[in-house]
This record gives sequence, C-alpha cells and structure tokens, in this order.
Amino acid sequence: MADEIYHVEVKRKFRRSDGQNELRWVVRPVADVITEESPEYRCKDCYGKVKLHGKNVADGRAPHAEHRSRQDSEYCPAGTYFRQNPGRTPKLSLNPIE
Ligand SMILES: [Zn+2]
Repeated sequence: MADEIYHVEVKRKFRRSDGQNELRWVVRPVADVITEESPEYRCKDCYGKVKLHGKNVADGRAPHAEHRSRQDSEYCPAGTYFRQNPGRTPKLSLNPIE
C-alpha cells in the first residue's frame, strides 16, 4: 500500500521587510503543486523526497504524493508503513531536502 499524502511543502520567494528576497517552505495541496509545476517540493513532515501523482493515475485516486524512499515512509508520520507500526518513533528523512 503506497502513501497517500495530500499536502507537501514547496519553496516560495518572500520579500522581507528589509527588501531582500528569502526562500521559505510553505504547505500546499498536491493538486496545486502539480498545476503550478513547482520545481522544489518535499514531505512536510519528514522533509524527504516525494513523488507526485496527478489525477490520471490508473487507480483513480485524487492527486497525491508518496515518499520516494521506503525508509522515509517507515518513519514519517505521513507514511503508510509508519502508520502500520503503532508506537514507532517518527524520524526525519535520512536525506532531507533543505
Ligand atoms: Zn515524510
């Protein structure tokens, strides 16, 4: 059973009060991230790499994301494998996207 993550983080440019631009991670729905073709995104819970699936997937599920790494899914609170193991302590991704 693959992950079904409906919100991920994307990098957005913000203008600070001193006029400088700054990149910040913001939470966005996966459907919007696909539409906007955001170049940088990550799991909002473990910061790991995720794969995006649009609505044309064969099984008819809504647009969603899943972890690229099984390890992330095992230890991320959003991961299917994590949820199958109650009591497990969540961890950040081994390869977090900064
Ligand atoms: Zn995660």
